Amino acid sequence: DLSGKTAIITGSNSGIGLGIAQQLAQAGADVVLNSFTDRKEDHALAEEIANVTGVKARYIKADMSKGEECRKLIEEAGACDILINNAGIQHVEPIDKFPTEKWDAIIAINLSSAFHTTAAALPMMRKAGWGRVINISSAHGLTASPYKSAYIAAKHGIIGLTKTTALETAEEPITANAICPGYVLTPLVESQIPDTMKEYDMGREEVIKNVMLKRQPSKEFATVEQMGGTAAFLCSAAADQITGTHISVDGGWTAL
Ligand code: NAD
Repeated sequence: DLSGKTAIITGSNSGIGLGIAQQLAQAGADVVLNSFTDRKEDHALAEEIANVTGVKARYIKADMSKGEECRKLIEEAGACDILINNAGIQHVEPIDKFPTEKWDAIIAINLSSAFHTTAAALPMMRKAGWGRVINISSAHGLTASPYKSAYIAAKHGIIGLTKTTALETAEEPITANAICPGYVLTPLVESQIPDTMKEYDMGREEVIKNVMLKRQPSKEFATVEQMGGTAAFLCSAAADQITGTHISVDGGWTAL
């Protein structure tokens, strides 16, 4: 039961972040949703979670590509017992053609944002005497594929940040872990399908089974509910001694 806890989930107006927010709210946590936009729809997502679950839910705009805004998100939330570093973007291109601004944006959003939010959140967790840092890495935090240099560097990097955070909090009731999803069908993955279809000259179903899920032995996408359930487990008492590691939710990808 996470009632009385506040969870901040970066990049949570869609996909995995939203799924995690919904599951943590189901488990009783108050939730803070975030993205870089400030639309009616963004705030409506928080209202809906509050209506369905009865927890307090709100949406705070902050651009995770900017260190100061990452820190401000945590301060504005006012409490942070559970920090889910989830915001992430992708760009697919060979290294010699990879635009520098894409590299910089991916490192900023997928990696550096977690440094800034963690730095701002740890003092609050210490004051509260309990905390959970959960970083959303990827199967690509443990293995590589061509053309995703920045993403893979950032996702490997966040595993290192997770371990360091765990060691710096090891004697406190705070844990830091990563979740490494395989392919989850979210807008981020959906947006890669047309390019991959073109690249391989295949239809949608063929590209999903034979290209995207080629390395996912289960041949099924993982779901955002499974990511939320894994995050909720990491917040439970059963996970008190789980720190500095990762949980793969990847249908066997990293067993290959
Ligand atoms: P998504 O595109 O649905 O969600 C990404 C979220 O990040 C969105 O809410 C978006 O608004 C937010 N975001 C993007 N730029 C931002 C910024 N500058 N500031 C604040 N928020 C920003 O994608 P998703 O698949 O749900 O991805 C969520 C996380 O899971 C990412 O870190 C991604 O790398 C990781 N992941 C996804 C998969 C997958 O198969 N979908 C697999 C492994 C890891």
